[in-house]
Amino acid sequence: MIVTGAIKGTDPQCRRHRMAATSVQTKHLAKWLRERGQREIAQAFIVCRFFALRYKSELVNLKWKSTTSSVEIHGDEVTFHIQRKHTGRKVVPVSRKCGCKQSGPLLCGICIIKQRHQQSSNGFVFPTVDYPKSMLWLKKAAAALQWDFPKSWGSHCFRRGMARECYAFGGLAHMLSVGGWRSAAAKEYLASKTISQAEAADVEIDFSSDEEII
Ligand SMILES: [Zn+2]
Repeated sequence: MIVTGAIKGTDPQCRRHRMAATSVQTKHLAKWLRERGQREIAQAFIVCRFFALRYKSELVNLKWKSTTSSVEIHGDEVTFHIQRKHTGRKVVPVSRKCGCKQSGPLLCGICIIKQRHQQSSNGFVFPTVDYPKSMLWLKKAAAALQWDFPKSWGSHCFRRGMARECYAFGGLAHMLSVGGWRSAAAKEYLASKTISQAEAADVEIDFSSDEEII
């Protein structure tokens, strides 16, 4: 059974802070992780942000080729075929083009996927990455890099960071088209009051949350 709108049993202290990873923070994070031998987690975080994915359900479970998810590479474009929260079992495409020109190769999810494609694995795109381990490293990095509220950093910081950036760049329509979010919640919210860009982006992400913030 799927329950929507349920309140998560997360520490209220943590939920107060809506952390969002900026491009610069994500670069620092990836470097910090690579220096500690956590290259695959670093790559997973970058790809998660680049495609604005849900970390646990969409990225950790992503497979090169299966009935529930697959990856297609065409030149400088990569398409993930995945099941999303609002599509149920229906597999839908999420496509992106190489972002090296816009944000540099360090943050390009496409080039990472192409690199990883050369390597053999057990079918998963990120075979050694798991959710709890990733979140521990994220919080550890947040503390080491002296980010605010290190314990509050969770997997949604990447979706939220990308949403804020897209919103700042091209407004709500751009944000929704890039992120694959549904618009009803944000539109209502926007109509009711004047809000900041960050709030507009966050409202969609929070409505789309399907993960514990641990
Ligand atoms: Zn690229």
